[in-house]
Amino acid sequence: KTIPQVFAETVSAYGTRDAAVFVEQDKRFSWDELAETVDAFAAGLLALGLEKGDRVGIWSPNRWEWLVTQFATARVGIILVNINPAYRMAELDYALNKVGCKALVTAASFKSSDYLGMLAKLAPELAESEPGKLKSARLPRLEIVIRVGEDNTQGMFNFGDVLAMAGRDEYERLDAISDSLDNNDPINIQFTSGTTGSPKGATLTHRNIVNNGNFVTSTIKLTAEDRLCVPVPFYHCFGMSMGSMGCVTKGAAMVFPSEGFDAGATLTALAQERCTGLYGVPTMFVAMLDNPDFSRFDLSSLRTGIMAGSPCPIEVMKKVISLMHMGQVTIAYGMTETSPVSFQSGVDDPLEKRVSTVGRIQPHVECKVVDTDGKTVAVGQSGELCTRGYSVMKGYWQDEEKTAEAIDAEGWMHTGDLATFDAEGYCNIVGRVKDMVIRGGENIYPREIEEFLYRNGRIKEVQVFGVPDEKYGEVIAAWIVRVPGQTLTEEEVKAFCEGQIAHYKVPRYVRFKDSLPMTVTGKPQKFLMREAMMQELG
Ligand code: ATP
Ligand code: MG
Repeated sequence: KTIPQVFAETVSAYGTRDAAVFVEQDKRFSWDELAETVDAFAAGLLALGLEKGDRVGIWSPNRWEWLVTQFATARVGIILVNINPAYRMAELDYALNKVGCKALVTAASFKSSDYLGMLAKLAPELAESEPGKLKSARLPRLEIVIRVGEDNTQGMFNFGDVLAMAGRDEYERLDAISDSLDNNDPINIQFTSGTTGSPKGATLTHRNIVNNGNFVTSTIKLTAEDRLCVPVPFYHCFGMSMGSMGCVTKGAAMVFPSEGFDAGATLTALAQERCTGLYGVPTMFVAMLDNPDFSRFDLSSLRTGIMAGSPCPIEVMKKVISLMHMGQVTIAYGMTETSPVSFQSGVDDPLEKRVSTVGRIQPHVECKVVDTDGKTVAVGQSGELCTRGYSVMKGYWQDEEKTAEAIDAEGWMHTGDLATFDAEGYCNIVGRVKDMVIRGGENIYPREIEEFLYRNGRIKEVQVFGVPDEKYGEVIAAWIVRVPGQTLTEEEVKAFCEGQIAHYKVPRYVRFKDSLPMTVTGKPQKFLMREAMMQELG
C-alpha cells in the first residue's frame, strides 16, 4: 500500500479520535481534522504549481506543520526532503541544490539558529521577489518558500496562506493523483545523522516506509488504544518512519512534547497525556532519568517503547524498565538507509536478551555477518553486518558511486556496523567498523570500554575512541562528563581500569568535558572528538 492509502484507511476507521497532540504549540488534531488539514495543504501545493515527483524540502523542528507536510506531500506524490534542523548555510545550500528542491517549507528559527537570516544570505533575491517567483543565483532550482508560523516575510508564503490557497479544481485532483502512485515510487529523501561525517541522502519509497512503520509498531503491540510520545526529531527516520508513519499504520495517537528535545517537557507530556509508549535514543532516556524532578512525574501509564539509534548501556535499560514503568520496552537497531529498522527485540523476549542485544531480524529481511574478505563468519564471531530485503533504500540520491559502495550487486546493504549473533539469532552490535581501534595489532571495541567505565558512579557520560599514535598506530582516548558535583581525575580513571581490563584498553588520554559533541538525533560524534584530540596533541 502507498502512504496515502494507509493514511486514508486509518482516518476512516478512527475519525474523531485523537491523532496528534503538539504540547508546546498547544495544538490537537483528531484524525478527521488532520486529514482535512493534510488535504488543504496538498491541494495548496498543487495550486502553487508543484507536481508529483517534485522535491519539497522541510527545515523545521518538531511542529504540527511538519506532520501535515509529511502526509500532504505523500498524498500527491511529491518527494519530501528532510533537512536537518542543525544544518547551517553551507549544508542547506548543498542539500537544496543536490536534490534540486523546487520548494522549501521552513521555520523562522530554531534555538539559536536564525533560519530566515541564513536563507536571506543564500538567496538575497527573496527580499525583492513575489512569493513563489524566486530566481536565485545560488539556489537556482528553488522557486517557492513557505514559512511556518503566522507572520509574513517578504518573498514567502506563510503556511496558512497555502492551506487556504486551493480551489475546487485542486481538491478534485487529489484522489486521482493518490490513486496513480506506485508503491515503489520514491517519496522521501532522508539524511543520515552525520555521526561519522557528512550526512548522506537516502531515497526511500512508500513500500520502505509503510512496511517499516508497520513492523516496528507491531512488535511493540501498538494499537489505536495507545498514545505514543515522540520526542525524537521528525527530520530523522526515528521520528517520521517509526514515529508518525508507525502510528498511522495502527491509528495510535502521537504526542509531541516540544520543538526540540527537552527532558522536562517530555516528562510533562508523558504524565499529562497519559502516554503508553515512548521513543528515544539512549541519551534522551539518560537525561530524563537525571532530571531533578523525575520522581514528581506520574509515569504509571507507560508500558512500552523503543530505544534505538546508538548502543544503550545495560544499566540505563534496567532503570528504564524499573523506574519508568516500561516493562515492555524494546531495543531496535537500524539505519536511515534501511527505512530504518532491521532488528528489534520483542516485548516477550527474556529480559536478559532485551537488555543485552538488539533482538532478532525483522520479518522479510535477511542478514549475514561477513569478514573483510566478504566470507560469512561462524556463529559468535564478529564481522560486518549486511542486510537485504524490502527495507533497503533505492540508493543515495543521484550518487551511484556511494550507492554502489553501500549496496552490492546481490542487494546486500553493508551497514558499516560490527555485529555478532548467538545461537538463538539474537544480534549484538559491537560497534562501528569506522570506530574500531587497532592498537599495535590488537582490535579494540570502544563500546566494551565504555560499558566498563559506566560502572564508575562518578561518570555520567563517556565516549571512547582511537587517536593516531606513532608507536602503536592508534591508542585509546576517553572523553568524560562527570556526574554533577563529583570530582574525578585522569589518574583516578586509569586506576579504576588498572587490573580490571586489559592494559591496552586502558585509556592513554582522559579529558573531562561539560558536554560531548552530538548530532540532533543525540548521537555522540566521535570523529569530532578525534579531530579535537589530534589538534591538542599536535
Ligand atoms: P552517518 O551515517 O551520517 O555517519 P548514522 O550512521 O548515525 O550517521 P543513522 O542512519 O541515523 O546515521 O544511524 C544508523 C546507525 O546508528 C547504525 O549504522 C548504527 O551504527 C547506529 N545504531 C542504530 N541503532 C543502534 C542500536 N540499537 N545499537 C547500536 N547502534 C545503533
Ligand atoms: Mg550511517
